[in-house]
Amino acid sequence: MPGRIVGRCCPLFASVLFTLVLLVAPACTRTGASGAPIQFRPTAAPRAEQGPAQLVAPALTVLDQPPDRPLYTLNVTLDYDNGALHTQEKIEFRNPTGLAISEIKFNVPPARRAGAIDVRDARIFGQAQPLAFEVTSTVLSVKLPAPLPAGAGIALAFDYVLKIPLQEVITGIGGDDSSRGPHSLTAGHWYILIAPWENGDWYTPGYTPIGDNYVSEVADYEVNILAPEGIIIAGAGEESREGRLWRYSLPMARVFAFGASPVYQIDQIEQDGVTYIHYTYPEHRKFTEAVLYTAARAVALYSELYGPYPYRTLRIVETGRSQGQEYSGMIGIGTTLYDGYPGRGARHDLIATTAHEVAHQWWFHLVGNDQIRSPWLDESLARMSELQFYERHYPRDVDWWHQRYIGASRPRGSIDLPLSAYPDGRAYIIAVYQRGLLFLTDTRRRIGAQAFDAALRDYSQTMAYKMATPNNFFDALARHTTEDLTDLVNGYFASAIALPCRISDNAIGCRR
Ligand SMILES: [Zn+2]
Repeated sequence: MPGRIVGRCCPLFASVLFTLVLLVAPACTRTGASGAPIQFRPTAAPRAEQGPAQLVAPALTVLDQPPDRPLYTLNVTLDYDNGALHTQEKIEFRNPTGLAISEIKFNVPPARRAGAIDVRDARIFGQAQPLAFEVTSTVLSVKLPAPLPAGAGIALAFDYVLKIPLQEVITGIGGDDSSRGPHSLTAGHWYILIAPWENGDWYTPGYTPIGDNYVSEVADYEVNILAPEGIIIAGAGEESREGRLWRYSLPMARVFAFGASPVYQIDQIEQDGVTYIHYTYPEHRKFTEAVLYTAARAVALYSELYGPYPYRTLRIVETGRSQGQEYSGMIGIGTTLYDGYPGRGARHDLIATTAHEVAHQWWFHLVGNDQIRSPWLDESLARMSELQFYERHYPRDVDWWHQRYIGASRPRGSIDLPLSAYPDGRAYIIAVYQRGLLFLTDTRRRIGAQAFDAALRDYSQTMAYKMATPNNFFDALARHTTEDLTDLVNGYFASAIALPCRISDNAIGCRR
């Protein structure tokens, strides 16, 4: 049973003195007057790889002990009134390319808006000399002073100011996952992210106006956010707080996101070792119990079906948007989704969207995928999870759910196109969310619910913390059934899929 609701009253904000920041953040130091940015203080001199540093050019220094996966340290000073984040970012990582490289590329999603980000500095952490860099569209390229050997680790530091855009009015699904409205600010994929390395190049896909145009691999995050007095921060992961300084630790994550607001009302419940925390505007606090229990029941069901939820906290954060959004250890619920909820029952977008976004903790966060090339892989599965949530907890509402989210007529469109191939948001939703669900329910009917559930669990566990491809999904199915799925795949997919031989009746070209 869920635990009882615990209200957290508005935190008492003590003003933070400069010295307090030094005390609580030993790896950082803050300079200047109140409101000046938190800054790094080098704690260890990096090892020189190529002799003494030159007078003008920076030396290439490598890490003695590079982390197994990228470690991001983000020191953020939030200027809430102006929607500006001054960030000092350090990324420690290992050269992932298998080659000696002289250039490293990063994805910077907010840079798709001209002037949104002002990158002031890039350098090897601890070095006196900056590095040459350029920002072109949404890609930041940094030139190293000498080739970084394959497998060697490096720490790069960036200093930038980002202006979070005002909330767009859009129909459908897409747009920025970082935005600000009259009551809150949301920062999703807002920082400089190392680009994945694949097929001999950095993967820098750029912006598309529909869907989630982000691809990120698993990394660890340590985040310090200095907020103005009276601003509540809702960040993902383990939280600790000293006055205006909010600190978060989020390991093994696809993204670090946070919300900020002067009006957030905070409620939480605890269930099975997970704390669910809901941040909502005052007018929607009356729905907090429904949202929290929906999230807790969804996590319990999906943990049973797919494997355990990987964190001890899940934050559910109201945003100024009109859609839900998944992040690691956190989901965003757009403010319009609360409209008209009667306060009980599941026949409403608020409940369905909460169940859907929670499912992305498995299909996006745990099992990663290329959301730009294969958006169906997480979205169709998240919708399937939503259906499973209704089947388990609201069986009498399953028909309502089907009518509302899938519709009575058979939707059209190939489910497996990249984001850029769908002409508009409506076509994307019909193909990926509606028809994608039908592909999965047809598959379940064909192979049986038991084999289907076993395959989903297998897929989740096998591909945890990796980037899954459609082949990985079909391979998981083939480990639990020998039913021929050729006709279903031909009917729903545009691209030629080489199915495993076990589920294609040994078709020519099948994968063994
Ligand atoms: Zn989704």
